[in-house]
Amino acid sequence: MGYSSWFAVHAQKHKDIVKKLTLQNYTQEQIIDYFDFQNMVKKEKDFCPLYAKNKKCHEIESLNCYLCACPNFRFSDTGIEKVGGKTKYSFCSIDSKDGRVGIYGEKIHQDCSKCGVAHHRSYVENHFDLDLKKIMNKCEHKELLK
Ligand code: SF4
Repeated sequence: MGYSSWFAVHAQKHKDIVKKLTLQNYTQEQIIDYFDFQNMVKKEKDFCPLYAKNKKCHEIESLNCYLCACPNFRFSDTGIEKVGGKTKYSFCSIDSKDGRVGIYGEKIHQDCSKCGVAHHRSYVENHFDLDLKKIMNKCEHKELLK
């Protein structure tokens, strides 16, 4: 599954949960609480494949899953640029010190496995919107690879 199709599926799951909560008059704070890993792993088993193993993507004590997809991630399914003969498909827009450039054969992808920036509650509060697509509106790189 490419980045775009993953995000389309993920955004729909996110939207469905947010809709369910807003229909029950959850406040912003309650919605963020609901997306805490400890709650999501019990109540929203289909939201993340790691939930089936009760496993976190990052070892953060209060891991919040509202921004599972990080707003700083930039991607293109067709490639962003050529770097030394390889194709770069994603990068971190803030060049996080905890992120890494992953090289996989001819492909370059951003590796976020050691970066928990978007999983902290304070980050979610500062970037909150009910609509995940609005928060993520800069993520898909639209320029065609030259
Ligand atoms: S390295 Fe961190 S801040 Fe950058 S895109 Fe990945 S998770 Fe987000």
